[in-house]
Amino acid sequence: MNEQICKECGLQLRGRTDKRFCNDSCRNAFNNRINSKENNILKIINKQLKKNRKILKQFLADEKMYKINTHKLLTEGYSFSYHTHRITTAKGHEYIFCYEYGFLELGDDLFLIVKSSQKGKRIVSNNNQRNE
Ligand SMILES: [Zn+2]
Repeated sequence: MNEQICKECGLQLRGRTDKRFCNDSCRNAFNNRINSKENNILKIINKQLKKNRKILKQFLADEKMYKINTHKLLTEGYSFSYHTHRITTAKGHEYIFCYEYGFLELGDDLFLIVKSSQKGKRIVSNNNQRNE
């Protein structure tokens, strides 16, 4: 006897043992719910990433690099939990990026904001060398 139940409505399923839903409308309802849950997670993360990028962009403005402390970043709503990628320079400095804007932790609660005008290591390395 088939003891499977529909994943959407919980009713007992009959027939094929590989069935997971009693009908198309239960399948659609289930899949829509999963998709909207996933979309919400993506939306929340993307929103914070965009916010982080905007904050770095605003502080950097037209400068090549800009020093800032943690407090100023947090006050604007920056979240250190979210970034898009990290780039380690030849000298071993690790920049943390939100899209094309990133920062290097300098210690003493200071960060150096930079912009990568191209993808890859070279631009950041150049910025880094100019700084030293
Ligand atoms: Zn069902």
